[in-house]
Amino acid sequence: MAEIRIQNLQKRFADFTAVKNSSLLLEDGKFVVLLGPSGCGKTTTLRMVAGLEFPTDGQILLDGEDVTYRRPRERDIAMVFQLFALYPHMGVRDNLEFPLRNERLPRVEIDRRIKEVAGILRIEHLLGSRVGGLAGGDRQRVALGRAIVRQPKAFLMDEPLGTLDAEFRELMCVELRKLHEKLKTTTVFVTHDQNEAMALADHIVVMNQGEILQADDPQGIYNFPSCVFVARFIGRPPMNLLKVNGAVSAGMKRVALDGQSVDVPMIEAAAGSALLGVRPEHVHLGAPGSGLDAQVQHVEYFGSHWIAELTSSAGSLKAVVDKSMKPKAGDAVGLGFDTQRVVLFDATTERLLP
Ligand code: ATP
Repeated sequence: MAEIRIQNLQKRFADFTAVKNSSLLLEDGKFVVLLGPSGCGKTTTLRMVAGLEFPTDGQILLDGEDVTYRRPRERDIAMVFQLFALYPHMGVRDNLEFPLRNERLPRVEIDRRIKEVAGILRIEHLLGSRVGGLAGGDRQRVALGRAIVRQPKAFLMDEPLGTLDAEFRELMCVELRKLHEKLKTTTVFVTHDQNEAMALADHIVVMNQGEILQADDPQGIYNFPSCVFVARFIGRPPMNLLKVNGAVSAGMKRVALDGQSVDVPMIEAAAGSALLGVRPEHVHLGAPGSGLDAQVQHVEYFGSHWIAELTSSAGSLKAVVDKSMKPKAGDAVGLGFDTQRVVLFDATTERLLP
């Protein structure tokens, strides 16, 4: 078990800064997901934690010990790569044994660990098979087994499910989470897929352009995005952002969307431009004149609900509409909001207002 602390970490490649002054505490036993678009510095961060890359500046502490410039095998951390990283010419058992033989463990201990890991991953029946002939999911299980069998202090996983098809990915997500519940080994998992992040993480770290924008549990990230980027990146459809063109009056906790009032908790914003963030499931369609005037532009049917695209004087937005309703393009509606569930962003800095 391990606590990993990243302090003011920075990585430059020539004159390009891939990771900018990042600090983060990865708590012991937690499943932490680094999430962000391609090129945001997730893999570089993970590689520095693994010891495959040295930072330009900053420190990495493993259980309080500075490991910043230690080589990978001196860190007792296991890396699970996307491309399975198994020896295809060897059998499953040999692949699992390999890391243990390097550690010169006694035979009885090797056999005990392989039996245990094969049981956990339900691959006992594959122990005699060749890796080359295995289906993708089985290979992935064996790859996980190879990481687990070492009983490392932490697992680092770089898009390990990236090559699997959608259905299998979901299945492996559930398996990984269950595995984590059993082993409780500190895990750092890199992905650009928010569904994977939501399904797996105790904590999500959202990155963009080499910076950590928010580190929180999935509910915190979803309900209180730290900035407009996170609000747009998380959630499908993403959070609506509406222009607040009336004054924001702190004491009243009430904002105006082109003349219509909306109650907003927790606001202490100076008068002026702000953006109101509201998730599509917290927008409600009512009769025209009952709230913010809007018009339905387009509807999509999802079986359990509709998604309506709307235009209003505060901007365009989307709403999740109950399946019992039948909104249609051209309808004039009045929009209401779950006022406890809206947030405000500063329109200039794009940061969440306190
Ligand atoms: P992806 O999901 O596409 O791998 P990522 O978030 O993991 O994205 P990184 O692989 O960490 O991003 O890369 C961050 C940036 O650093 C990218 O712009 C990449 O081109 C650059 N980069 C990474 N490694 C090197 C390197 N060895 N030399 C130069 N630039 C690099």
